[in-house]
Amino acid sequence: MFVKKGFKQQTINDVGIGNGTVAFQGVKLNVHCFVVDGVLIDTGAKSLEKEFKPFMKQQDIDQVVITHFHEDHTGCAAFLEKELQLPIYMNDRMLDYCAMKPDYPLYRKFFWGKRSPFHAKVIGKTFSSRNATWDVIETPGHAIDHVAFLNRQTGQLFTGDLYCQEKTKVVLREECIPTIIDSLTKVVAYDFGEVFCAHAGYLMDGRASLQRKLDYLVQLQGKTIKLYEDGMPPSQIGTTLFPKKYPITYLSSGEWGSSHIINSIIQEHTKKS
Ligand SMILES: [Zn+2]
Repeated sequence: MFVKKGFKQQTINDVGIGNGTVAFQGVKLNVHCFVVDGVLIDTGAKSLEKEFKPFMKQQDIDQVVITHFHEDHTGCAAFLEKELQLPIYMNDRMLDYCAMKPDYPLYRKFFWGKRSPFHAKVIGKTFSSRNATWDVIETPGHAIDHVAFLNRQTGQLFTGDLYCQEKTKVVLREECIPTIIDSLTKVVAYDFGEVFCAHAGYLMDGRASLQRKLDYLVQLQGKTIKLYEDGMPPSQIGTTLFPKKYPITYLSSGEWGSSHIINSIIQEHTKKS
């Protein structure tokens, strides 16, 4: 089986950007990591370690911060800890999980590789780099430990997997749309401009992008609840709002799907009422 890998790097407004890609049979995935002011944000995937290593060695890094535990963000953390002896910080919720051999489905191991155990320290509500103070903003929904990082000096915001794309059509089974809506609402109240997304990359007018995503999800939530209240079964709401099936749904045996969007909205709604 032939997996095609690629890597590109560039610098935008003092942020070093590494972007690795993995492609197999029409499915192309990509992941970014970012370096600014001695801070490396996220560590790429193990399957792209050969590609990410030279980039990381080249950069001037004092510390590593991680947005969430997923293997495409933590894949080179063991290398950074052992070979570059860098301190790694993340939310405490998945810290112990990261110190162990992970367990996730085969297709994810195939694309992203097998993440090695690593040892991170608990990140606080803020941290400092050479010239800046940073806010650590808890933004769960995509993952329970998800955080975003705001450089208060530059107004640059690093959002991990909070954004990814404006019009979300498929999510992971454990994702929760209402929680993502809360997280986006919280984030847009901060003072920031540019956004650096782990998958979409650099978003010049990041604030507008995040706001559009928030509006889209709120609308989707409203439509879903309306159809549900009108008596439509969730599976039919799914096919009504998302008539297309996506290759990742088959490839992941349903771990990614549009139905998880609908189900998470209905679940939260019925909890409330
Ligand atoms: Zn993720």
